[in-house]
Amino acid sequence: MRYISTRGGMTPRSFREILLEGLATDGGLAMPQTYPQYSKASLSRLRKMSYADLAFDILSHYIDDIAPTDLKKLIKKTYTAKVFCSEAITPLKTLEPGLHLLGLSNGPTLAFKDLALQLLGNLFEFVLTSQKGQLNILGATSGDTGSAAEYAMRGKRGIRVFMLSPHGKMSRFQTAQMYSLSDPNIFNIAIKGVFDDCQDMVKQVSHDESFKRRFHIGTVNSINWARVAAQVVYYFKGYFAATKNDSEVVSFAVPTGNFGNVLAGYIARQMGLPIHQLILATNENNVLDEFFKTGIYRPRVSSEVKQTSSPSMDISKASNFERFVFDLVERDTHKLSALWQAVERGGEFNLQGTPYMNRLAESGIVSGTSQHADRLKTIRDIYKKYDVMVDTHTADAIKVGLEHRTPGVPLIFLETAQPVKFAEIIQEVLGREPPCPENCRGLERLPQRMDVMHVDSDAIKDYIENRCQS
Ligand SMILES: *Cc1c(COP(=O)(O)O)cnc(C)c1O
Repeated sequence: MRYISTRGGMTPRSFREILLEGLATDGGLAMPQTYPQYSKASLSRLRKMSYADLAFDILSHYIDDIAPTDLKKLIKKTYTAKVFCSEAITPLKTLEPGLHLLGLSNGPTLAFKDLALQLLGNLFEFVLTSQKGQLNILGATSGDTGSAAEYAMRGKRGIRVFMLSPHGKMSRFQTAQMYSLSDPNIFNIAIKGVFDDCQDMVKQVSHDESFKRRFHIGTVNSINWARVAAQVVYYFKGYFAATKNDSEVVSFAVPTGNFGNVLAGYIARQMGLPIHQLILATNENNVLDEFFKTGIYRPRVSSEVKQTSSPSMDISKASNFERFVFDLVERDTHKLSALWQAVERGGEFNLQGTPYMNRLAESGIVSGTSQHADRLKTIRDIYKKYDVMVDTHTADAIKVGLEHRTPGVPLIFLETAQPVKFAEIIQEVLGREPPCPENCRGLERLPQRMDVMHVDSDAIKDYIENRCQS
């Protein structure tokens, strides 16, 4: 498998060559040249497989420059009952016949990002060790992504993580989750500022090309191709768990921010998985719902971004969306580049009246928006009706999913976080504490370790330099 850029300016590369990179060399995103195809007959071969075997079958098409025996070992080491708290890895819970919850949040940080990042940590370590390389991951977090990255990279050879977070501004649970890590390769830096200050500091350090090269600075953001590929697997797993034979179709309802989660579903559908609809759910930051309803893509400026009770979906633009539009414009790199030039100048694009609108209708993606009051109502309804607690992001998916339900087609809601991560809201709505899974009990009582620093990117560079010499 070779990878090309959405903007057309990169000579085809292998998986290893794009694994550690962020943007492609021309500013676009890496995409596989083709999608491997699964026929009905090959689906029946996959149906009975364990999660790890299924992951190997699917991912070995995309990762063909790591020896199969090594890749299999890395995947088996990642998707274990110990790390994800069940043999199924992503257990399916049936609410009523034809309505299911696919549990993606049983990993170490209790959110679905673990499913991709845990594999990424093992892939990074393997590739860096074989190349005798080093990587210093620099990131900013308001909670979820940072902890998933730290739990994926803790103890990994050749890798250090420098994670900036706003001092005193994360929830108690998130703070405990990150700051209680004691691995010597994890550096939590609490910044006396807000999340935007942390993000700006990362940008400033990243603009210093010579510093970046000297200290092997990298990121693990959501545009990493391996993360998207790893997420394709749970769509297959969910399909098999909710159906009895390979002539059935299902729909998925997907809570989306950066378009990573739903992109993986779209790719699964392109690979031959019988998906009827992908129901995309956004919160009040509904850039994507707007696009799928009108054909107009209008990213917001950061001051327009609303802080919501499903905070992991609070985005101004959807960083993976370019990959979907690449296919929509039939992989015409000139067209794609022209659209994104408009976006990067602070503008928008409009596909109304173009033939691309027909292709949009064929993509299987429909969309809707869920707001704060909808989340509260959904959490209450689901608890009353099924005795099941869901978090605010999953509630967004359920609300929009039910609006688009097709009679006779099983509907699978992707559960992306555990309610305990948003205990304050659950308490407010249901008047009781959400259960705390075994792997994080007592977390808040563990000693915490972090360095407090001012908003000063030069001081961060010194900090990194000092830690890299020891
Ligand atoms: C990141 C996240 C999402 C959105 O995923 P995208 O890949 O950005 O679409 C949804 N729910 C939770 C809990 C998340 O952490």
